[in-house]
Amino acid sequence: MTETDGSERPPATLIEPIDMSTLDASFRREIQSMPDGDELSACFACTTCTAACPIANQWEYKPHQLIRMIILGMRDEVLSSKEIWECLTCFQCQERCPQKVRVTDIIFDCKNLAAEEGKIPDAIRNLARELLEKGQLYVITADWEREDLDLEPELPGLSTEEFKTILRNTRTGRIVGGE
Ligand code: SF4
Ligand code: SF4
Repeated sequence: MTETDGSERPPATLIEPIDMSTLDASFRREIQSMPDGDELSACFACTTCTAACPIANQWEYKPHQLIRMIILGMRDEVLSSKEIWECLTCFQCQERCPQKVRVTDIIFDCKNLAAEEGKIPDAIRNLARELLEKGQLYVITADWEREDLDLEPELPGLSTEEFKTILRNTRTGRIVGGE
């Protein structure tokens, strides 16, 4: 038997234990009540979604962990996570889930909920503002390369008024416009 110095130490853990008092069970119900959330609770944490995900190795929270966090009710952690915004929407996880959990669509739902709470990364917010103000995500400017490529020196201006009117009356327009 190994001798100890009498000072009991807790066993080492790789991650911080979850503080159960902060869990919000209504978050799971909220996601489950959405059209994509039907099969959420069928997840059995097989990690197939994470194995299929091309970007999961860059993430602190892997796809199977995000799903588990939703089931547990870790609302703040999920809606504040960078992972939901970095998802490539490639559907690899969703296509392979043996339980038909709509992982990609659920991540989309989380993005919508996060946006409604104002939790939008600055880069995404700026892109949405460009779309709202200019009707384009990327404005193509006059450039010497255009001449080299035998293109018109400048793009004809876009008429974006109708588009902007529509967008301002959408949820995206209202959120980005700060309403
Ligand atoms: S593949 Fe499906 S069942 Fe497996 S962990 Fe991911 S969501 Fe859960
Ligand atoms: S849709 Fe998102 S979470 Fe799913 S595999 Fe692609 S990048 Fe990963």
